[in-house]
Amino acid sequence: MSASPSPATAIDLPAAQASAIAPRLTALGARYDAAPVFPIESMKCLADAGLHRCFAPVASGGHDFGSVDAWHLCLFNVLRIIGRADLSVGRLYEGHVNAMILFDRFGSATQHHGLGQRLDAGAFYGMWATEPPPGVQMIGRVLKGAKSFATGAGGLAHAIITVQPEDGARRLIVVAADDAARADLSQWRVRGMRATGSGLYDLTDMIVAEDDLLGGPGDYDREPLFTTGAWRFTAVQLGGIEALLIETRKAMSDAARGDPMQRAKFADAVAATRTAYLWVREAALRAAREDADGPAFARMTRGVVERAALDVMELAARIVGTRSAMDGQRIDKISRDLSLYLRQGGPDYARDQAALTWLDHDAWGAEDPLW
Ligand SMILES: Cc1cc2nc3c(=O)[nH]c(=O)nc-3n(C[C@H](O)[C@H](O)[C@H](O)COP(=O)(O)OP(=O)(O)OC[C@H]3O[C@@H](n4cnc5c(N)ncnc54)[C@H](O)[C@@H]3O)c2cc1C
Repeated sequence: MSASPSPATAIDLPAAQASAIAPRLTALGARYDAAPVFPIESMKCLADAGLHRCFAPVASGGHDFGSVDAWHLCLFNVLRIIGRADLSVGRLYEGHVNAMILFDRFGSATQHHGLGQRLDAGAFYGMWATEPPPGVQMIGRVLKGAKSFATGAGGLAHAIITVQPEDGARRLIVVAADDAARADLSQWRVRGMRATGSGLYDLTDMIVAEDDLLGGPGDYDREPLFTTGAWRFTAVQLGGIEALLIETRKAMSDAARGDPMQRAKFADAVAATRTAYLWVREAALRAAREDADGPAFARMTRGVVERAALDVMELAARIVGTRSAMDGQRIDKISRDLSLYLRQGGPDYARDQAALTWLDHDAWGAEDPLW
């Protein structure tokens, strides 16, 4: 197990490592988009840079960031840097970090030790909750059912999944995720996010060992952790928006730069991107502090980021023109990836729940309440 860097360097190091490998992730991302398979080389790149380990529990070899704020702000930067390079790998990485958080919260000392050993071997985890009805059931210690939208199905080493026991609330278990015979990617023929391979994974007849039970019944659904955690995928999406802005600026012709109408569109794209940045960064800090209004804040942030992404996608297309839609162009890939990645569960419900909270009180915070 590698020694942790001091807290001071731990804060900056992961983002620097992510930046260093970003060009390679971008190049590999274009390749895996054209011929979609599990992006094994991209994942190896992340592991070689130590990024699979840094947000793991300290007992499993994760970095000691010195404070929860520092941990969250560092993760915010790493997620958007990886998202900028390749949204599919960003999604895979975000799932892995989600699993590391669940290990940290609910794992036993033995499980932390076992996780450390698996990370030593370069393992990546997924977090699979989505499922077709009736869902995955645990009858005694035997599983029945499948997961859908299972990012990395058949490619990741392990996944944490939700299961419904015969009695009580759903709970978390750790399963092997690399059995190609259980994965069905035949329906994953998608416009974007192709390398995530988010297909079906059949768990039927898998036996659950005592050590594979993570935490207790209802732990996964504990608030504010569960809903506030949505900030992490908005950080990856933010990376995609930032990449789109960068590419649009690069692709903007001299004629467009000389035209006030096109410059106004570019200004709108900058404002949308940075607005999303401010909301996601704030949502990360709410998560760090386990703010009681974190869920409302994360739900509102989802809508802000979705709106910003849709706006910047439209502005990029209008500023750059037909080139933005051509095969091999970064703007094309990012727009295709984002258009699918934005489709997360219950967006209207999320916004409505946020509105209900804000109608009750100003969830922005106690420092500057408007009412
Ligand atoms: C690239 C990608 C990777 C993913 N990876 C994972 C993963 O690794 N693990 C995992 O667990 N999940 C994963 N997911 C699934 C994700 O978390 C969401 O569950 C999924 O994207 C929701 O898909 P949907 O748009 O079909 O959702 P739905 O929730 O079915 O929404 C479709 C539409 O129906 C509306 N709607 C839904 N329910 C209602 C209702 N009750 N009343 C009124 N309107 C309703 C929604 O507002 C929306 O407009 C992934 C998704 C994507 C796109």
